[in-house]
Amino acid sequence: MTIAQERTLAAKVRQDFPILHQEVNGKPLVYLDNAATSQKPLAVLNALRHYYERDNANVHRGAHTLSVRATEAYEGARDKVASFVNAASRQEIVFTRNASEAINLVAYTWGLNTLQPGDEIILSVMEHHSNIVPWQLIAQKTGAVLKHVNLTETGELDLEHFQQLISDKTKLVSVVHVSNTLGCINPVEEIIAIAHRHGAKVLIDACQSVPHMPIDVQAMDCDWLVASGHKMCAPTGIGFLYGKLDLLMAMPPFMGGGEMIAEVFLDHSTYAELPHKFEAGTPAIGEAISLGAAVDYLSNLGMDKIHAYEEELTAYLFKQLHGIPELKVYGPQPTEDGKGRAALASFTLPGLDSSDISALLDQEGVAIRSGHHCTQPLHRILGVSGTARASLYFYNSREDIDAFITALKDTIDFFGNIMD
Ligand SMILES: *Cc1c(COP(=O)(O)O)cnc(C)c1O
Repeated sequence: MTIAQERTLAAKVRQDFPILHQEVNGKPLVYLDNAATSQKPLAVLNALRHYYERDNANVHRGAHTLSVRATEAYEGARDKVASFVNAASRQEIVFTRNASEAINLVAYTWGLNTLQPGDEIILSVMEHHSNIVPWQLIAQKTGAVLKHVNLTETGELDLEHFQQLISDKTKLVSVVHVSNTLGCINPVEEIIAIAHRHGAKVLIDACQSVPHMPIDVQAMDCDWLVASGHKMCAPTGIGFLYGKLDLLMAMPPFMGGGEMIAEVFLDHSTYAELPHKFEAGTPAIGEAISLGAAVDYLSNLGMDKIHAYEEELTAYLFKQLHGIPELKVYGPQPTEDGKGRAALASFTLPGLDSSDISALLDQEGVAIRSGHHCTQPLHRILGVSGTARASLYFYNSREDIDAFITALKDTIDFFGNIMD
């Protein structure tokens, strides 16, 4: 992509995001907190509004026209998500509230019923709390043992250490695809192939990859994959679990209630077919439909184009960051053309608290995150209590990066003057 094309893409899509066109603290908003949540395009906002204005009714109870429309739109969204990640069947997509709920679903159904004392679960030290705490809870209940893959010196997943940890005792490997703190892209295909050779199942936390690059669950051969809608242009309150059909079939229900049953007697019940077995109660209908609209929006732009554009932004971001010698950036360096890591940068400045950095940048209208980004164990290993993090999406431009860098340099000057 040439610089001219890149500018055109960013400029074009920015019109689709009303929220980006405002001032914060008297400055144009520069939103660089996309790893926490993305903004929503008009197509998604309109889908939600359209549903409530025209089609709102409960699903799967098609006694009247609105209910049929709502059901068709809700199940249509499932088809869209299934083809977006190339699932072999729509039955392999279960709607959840978010990625955290999807991981808990696997933990409390498959994990609780499969794991035996002494069985091993391999995670990495860079996992999000959502992919740590559920497995701690299940390990406590089952007697399974948690193992953790270390980092390499360059701040990536240590594949050699993984190969040392894995054995025939390993029953599950649950790892993040793209780290929300380090920005590294983990070699999940290789991890999955190795795990399968040992008879272990693999769950991929794809919260930071599904929004940013093409994902093919069949090519990847993962057993489960989870993502959150709100990081991929959809509303909060909707996410999904992908699972291989035979595995989902063998897993017992997670929560009980309406929607997930076939027949209910006073003393027992039979369960609905997949994927409804895992969707107890009235689902987040409007949110799921909006996720379908988000998937359409992203697909129309093209996930390969989004990814290529974000690589260009990554190259530019890191080039600018290298111009600030005081800065320490965590995770791997990108190649010169921005490949090999995600379009985000977690960093520290000596003597400055990350929350002071984000507060000062906010004064300039620049929204970045500070703290542990739900990766406290990782921050302990990095030896810092928190980092500041700028994370980009396809609607960000070089101008956004320039504004961020200028604000960052001003912050350094400001504190430099105070400390002098
Ligand atoms: C955001 C995130 C999660 C958790 O997503 P929720 O929407 O809060 O459930 C898990 N893992 C990673 C890598 C994330 O970025």
